Amino acid sequence: MAGAAAAWAWAAADRWAAAFGWLACVAFLVAGWREWSWRRAVRAVAQGLRDPRALEREGASGRELAAAVESVLREVREDLQRARARGSHLRELVEALPWGLVELDHRRRAVWVNRPAAALLGVQREQAADTSAVALFRRHEVDELLDRAERAGEAVRDLELGGVLQVVARRLASGGFLLLVQDVTQDRRAEAVRRDFVANVSHELRTPLASVRAMAEALRDGALEDPQLAARFLAQMLQEVDRMSRLVNDLLDLSALEAGVVRLRWEDLEAEELLEAVARRYAAAAERKGVALVVQPGKARVRGDRDRLEQALGNLVDNAVKYTPSGGQVVLKVELRDGEVSLVAEDTGPGIPPEHLPRVFERFYRADPSRSRAEGGTGLGLAITKHIALAHGGRVEAANRPTGGARLAVVLPAAGGGTRER
Ligand code: ADP
Repeated sequence: MAGAAAAWAWAAADRWAAAFGWLACVAFLVAGWREWSWRRAVRAVAQGLRDPRALEREGASGRELAAAVESVLREVREDLQRARARGSHLRELVEALPWGLVELDHRRRAVWVNRPAAALLGVQREQAADTSAVALFRRHEVDELLDRAERAGEAVRDLELGGVLQVVARRLASGGFLLLVQDVTQDRRAEAVRRDFVANVSHELRTPLASVRAMAEALRDGALEDPQLAARFLAQMLQEVDRMSRLVNDLLDLSALEAGVVRLRWEDLEAEELLEAVARRYAAAAERKGVALVVQPGKARVRGDRDRLEQALGNLVDNAVKYTPSGGQVVLKVELRDGEVSLVAEDTGPGIPPEHLPRVFERFYRADPSRSRAEGGTGLGLAITKHIALAHGGRVEAANRPTGGARLAVVLPAAGGGTRER
């Protein structure tokens, strides 16, 4: 009995083992087939994306899968295209900005430099990448600027690099920096000129004001009792007041000329007539000083505003008479050369030291300040002359004559060929 039961159990276990074995075989085959068919489908889709005819051999499910992948890919491609277009548009905008831009990474090395920045820094854009900020600007002060930007978020400073560059550094969330670089050379120069100008005007006014005040005090404190002294003080006070009025008038004139708001009344003018009119105006002063004032004949015509040109030439003649010692001579003449007419004032005075020649047309520039002030000069005469010449499309020249004395000229374009028979 026990033997029969054991035999039955053996037979049953054998059948279970056989069934389990078959089942495992079938499962293995199904898994293999699925894996194979997936791989085949993916291969077919990949091939089909390159060559759609390859998909025709596949079943409907393969084609469906390919279509789904294709549509996802199309969207990705379109997104990529849009992002690329946006990127190149932004790059174009950044390049079109009139400011130099430099991006630095957290190591303070250049990631990217736009065209204006490369031009301002005098570097090649390709070589700028990965260059340290200090090497890029060739100034170690950049590190100090970046330290401040790191602390405060933003910092600004001027750097001398031939001209003056203003650099604004801004900290970025990435730990790097964006630098905005601008050439401010002209602005800084204009600011310096403005500062000098204000200082000069204050100085020019302070001196006569102080002397008027001193004389008024002296009169109040008893000088009035002495008629001779009182008359002398009053005459000096009037002189100082006249000097201040001249200065204020010259300043107003100069600023109007510089601003280009002076309206010129254009007409054809005979150059020699202009010189004669100016000579007539200064004849008395020249005679008082014992200086001969001569106009040399010469034929040339210019186009311009008579009053303004007489004013410009008047300043040349005023100086020539002022700086020429008694017994000397001032010659006014016309020269026509290469379509240009030079209206010249030559004198036999001390001339202008060569180192001062390039600057005598600047506002308040004086080769000999004490002499100029003693002569009552405002230091603005030649600056006014220069601006009148410029307003006429001309220029000014200052030189010394080979035999001594100064030679100053207003050079204008000749009108209608320059000459006219009389
Ligand atoms: P200022 O009122 O001082 O004369 P200007 O602008 O007319 O001012 O002239 C500028 C400077 O140029 C003068 O201070 C003087 O030093 C110099 N200068 C001008 N003309 C002559 C000249 N003919 N001879 C010598 N120096 C001159």
